[in-house]
Amino acid sequence: MTLSLAMVLAESARLHRERIALIQGDQQLSYPELWERARRHAAALRELGIREGDRVAIIAPNVIAFAESYFGVLAAGAVVVPIPLLLVPEEATYLISHAKAKLVLCHVSQLPLGAPAAQAAGVELHTLGPATPEHPSLSELAAATEPVDRFVTRAPADPAVVFYTSGTTGRPKGAVLTHLNLVMNATVAAFDVDRIEPGEVMLGCLPLFHIFGQSSAMNSCFRAGATLVLQPRFDGAEALEIMRRHRVVLFLGVPTMYLRLLEVSEGVTDLPQLRGCTSGGAPLPVAVLEAFEARFGTQILEGYGLSETSPTATCNQPVFGARAGTVGHPVWGVEVEVVDPAVDERNDFLPAGEAGEIVIRGHNVFAGYLDNPEATEAAMVEGWFRTGDIGSKDADGYISIVDRKKDLIIRSGFNVYPREVEEMLIRHPCVAQVSVIGLPDDRSGEEVCAVLVLKPGARADPAEVIAWARERLGAHKYPRRVVVVDELPLGPSHKVLKRELRAWVAQGKV
Ligand code: ATP
Repeated sequence: MTLSLAMVLAESARLHRERIALIQGDQQLSYPELWERARRHAAALRELGIREGDRVAIIAPNVIAFAESYFGVLAAGAVVVPIPLLLVPEEATYLISHAKAKLVLCHVSQLPLGAPAAQAAGVELHTLGPATPEHPSLSELAAATEPVDRFVTRAPADPAVVFYTSGTTGRPKGAVLTHLNLVMNATVAAFDVDRIEPGEVMLGCLPLFHIFGQSSAMNSCFRAGATLVLQPRFDGAEALEIMRRHRVVLFLGVPTMYLRLLEVSEGVTDLPQLRGCTSGGAPLPVAVLEAFEARFGTQILEGYGLSETSPTATCNQPVFGARAGTVGHPVWGVEVEVVDPAVDERNDFLPAGEAGEIVIRGHNVFAGYLDNPEATEAAMVEGWFRTGDIGSKDADGYISIVDRKKDLIIRSGFNVYPREVEEMLIRHPCVAQVSVIGLPDDRSGEEVCAVLVLKPGARADPAEVIAWARERLGAHKYPRRVVVVDELPLGPSHKVLKRELRAWVAQGKV
């Protein structure tokens, strides 16, 4: 049997000939136009010697060139390795070398990252955009090359994309996602979760190098024959402006994006066409969900997933009805259960209401970590992927994520889940954002520390915030330390980097 993730675009070029696939600024491409460009890129890559199974790194923001080269690599039968932006060159060198990439494709805006990284890894770099004195241009070669007729077919279990986890919990590992994994996620996201109609307009502000933006936004949009309006770099005010101008009906974002939209939209209520919003990637505080709904009249459906699960494993879906504070039900074809994290050998599922480690099985579970059999073996138990997240299932099958196992704080022998403390502190009238971490402490083992960003113009005394929290949270949960910062450290996919935050506080930087 053969399959290719390139079909997500190729088939829409056949079925939606008149529809617009992509818009960026004043440029727009129909499905047949985008597919033709991808086929030219595939031909150019074949000319450069790229063959089935070779890995090609892409370093690009959310621009048309990302989609052209991404589908070009796939159509050539090769494997995409997206490199997260905001890395320093040494980190990118590690990913390029670890992936044994044959070629680096780098958008001209990212050359300060890509050029030194590719050079240190000893890998040839071609630009996306014009050539430079040092680097030839793949875009120029593609424009001058006859397109391939069709994509190179692959087996469903062949690798399509290698996603390096952003390393919020350690050294990045390359999660190998197959053609089947990603075709299924795009299909399920398009038709079961977001129910995208051909011709609908979606905002593409989630980074395309990350699985959420790439699979759940871009690929599901193309799978449905909808239109993606790209925003090269997320900015709340600009996102609102694009949503108005292009009459965007679907918005997918991580919680920090929803917070930003709320901050910049005081008094704005004119997005009547916005019909659907999905949040994932990190916990969405219920207070943010409620505030967003009150302002825009649109419900945010929260989902849950990981790079290793393509990503969507669960989501609040229209068929079940949404339940705030939960991540809904498993999506089509995916099983999600809760096990005792202490039991390594087998999976005895815990009954409804009991918290444990979330395990996942289905078409969405990855093929393993690239060249890391130990990590793969540790992550898989009898066909189930162990997520490292603590959660529970209620009697109606709704799943809740309590927290990451690694972020659990043990204070004087009591478990404190940072998320619960965060959910409370975000309700403080002066608090705009909050992240709760555990800090080593001689007396209690670990101490609960809340790091806050205040609302513009607000002033809050840490002692007052501690007293406020003390009235609302159990004695072992309320933070004994409160630190105010200007902004929280965000990773490339706009998630709060708790590891960096712990280092800041421990080093007395804040
Ligand atoms: P790393 O695995 O290196 O820590 P990461 O954050 O980049 O990094 P991703 O695959 O991007 O890894 O994110 C997966 C994680 O995001 C999940 O394991 C979970 O902890 C968190 N997550 C995703 N969706 C939700 C959600 N709705 N609520 C709470 N946490 C979520």
